[in-house]
Amino acid sequence: MNHMFDAIRNAVPAPDAVFIETTNGRLWAYGDLLQWSGRLANILIAAGVKPGDRVAVQVEKSPEALMLYLACLRAGAVYLPLNTAYTLAELDYFIGDAEPRLVVASPGAAEGIRSIASKYGSHVETLDAAGGGSLLERAAKADTEFEDVGRGSDDLAAILYTSGTTGRSKGAMLTHDNLLSNALTLKDYWRFTPADRLIHALPIFHTHGLFVATNVILTAGASMFLLPKFDPGQVLSLMPKATAMMGVPTFYVRLLQHEGLNRGVAAGMRLFTSGSAPLLAETHRAFQERTGQAILERYGMTETNMNTSNPYDGERIAGTVGFPLPEVEVRVADPESGAPLLQEETGMIEVRGPNVFKGYWRMPEKTKAEFRDDGFFITGDLGKIDARGYVHIVGRGKDLVISGGYNIYPKEVESEIDQLPGVVESAVIGVSHPDFGEGVTAVVVRQPDSDLDEQAILAALKERLARYKQPKRIIFVEDLPRNTMGKVQKNVLRDAYADLYS
Ligand code: ATP
Ligand code: MG
Repeated sequence: MNHMFDAIRNAVPAPDAVFIETTNGRLWAYGDLLQWSGRLANILIAAGVKPGDRVAVQVEKSPEALMLYLACLRAGAVYLPLNTAYTLAELDYFIGDAEPRLVVASPGAAEGIRSIASKYGSHVETLDAAGGGSLLERAAKADTEFEDVGRGSDDLAAILYTSGTTGRSKGAMLTHDNLLSNALTLKDYWRFTPADRLIHALPIFHTHGLFVATNVILTAGASMFLLPKFDPGQVLSLMPKATAMMGVPTFYVRLLQHEGLNRGVAAGMRLFTSGSAPLLAETHRAFQERTGQAILERYGMTETNMNTSNPYDGERIAGTVGFPLPEVEVRVADPESGAPLLQEETGMIEVRGPNVFKGYWRMPEKTKAEFRDDGFFITGDLGKIDARGYVHIVGRGKDLVISGGYNIYPKEVESEIDQLPGVVESAVIGVSHPDFGEGVTAVVVRQPDSDLDEQAILAALKERLARYKQPKRIIFVEDLPRNTMGKVQKNVLRDAYADLYS
């Protein structure tokens, strides 16, 4: 048996049921999925891919790229998607680290990638956004029948590199059961059925667009509108035909800036989810006001798939990431000792469950360091569980500011600043300071018409925050630096203002 693909095959509603509709009107039925994943699996085997071999893929988003993911599952290979923004120098690290048997590249990048791949003995094929390239040319001639390679629950299905927000990206090894257990849990928790039509505007090299979105749709036998990228106008034009959308916070911010967002256009939508980065409570409130819909925020990471979610029926509380998912244990512990903390106490978020990865690829020491003896994974995120059981994230351990010996959680300071009239958003960082070790520093985006200045913000915070939490400086910027998943790159800010107090 093939653990993940058997589940997908079993969920196929009918061969002519639609799986994907693209923006240029191309339809992929579930029958096409079975045939094309079979053809591609045959090509993988012909290219010498053995069970457990990595297949690295850096291509534009397309239905064919998803077929390749499914072909890897069927052939027993380990799917390894790479961010399309990675440069050749970065690819050298990833390909050298992963040593894939096969690399599938965009035709434009193939030449550079070939010279890298040859160093590590990898073979290269091409695939473009329109379904052209050497891989599909071969697949078109291949047999549609393929006998799936047997894989058990603990065998690797994928290696996904983390986003690199806090340092160099690490390869997270994910098993068939990691993916399947989480897909089934989310499908049920969020009530996906074959009648659902998801707006899919996320990249497919990241856990959110690849596993959360695609695997949930597949295990529900539902369908999706596959968009090359997020475009608010295009998303709004699809909404009346769709039932759900999964997004990162920036999607919602940009939809709110569009005059076409209103109750009517979203009336047929039953679910909007948000994750990958914190959703501002203000965005949640504004979206509910405009559309009547409460965004459901959830929390996950590359290493663990999804850990927590706000409820489908119960209260979705802005600024929280909801409850631990079924079978997922979440606890808050003292970051140093690992001793469990009480409700409402802030510490390290740790998780255990069938969703949690097997370890970092070729980093046994790092893997060991990130797990407690009882199997809990140390997420690196700081947070608390409140009296009602909702999990709150207050920031990353690496972003904790220590000033004059006191711990300052950036989120607490950011929330106070964000509430001030004229503020769009803020990021609080620690910057090296001769007297305090680190100086609390706030980087703030103002509304265009605002004349708010540094003194006004500092004065307003005096009443609200203990002295040691008050920023020493306020810096105004046009935008916060963000990566493709909408994550604020605090390391970029820390570098930019490194000399502020020296
Ligand atoms: P790296 O580990 O390489 O530094 P990364 O942690 O950003 O990068 P991902 O695995 O893509 O890589 O992101 C997981 C992180 O995203 C979580 O650890 C958490 O910090 C953040 N995150 C995800 N969902 C939420 C959410 N709803 N609210 C706040 N933060 C979130
Ligand atoms: Mg991380």
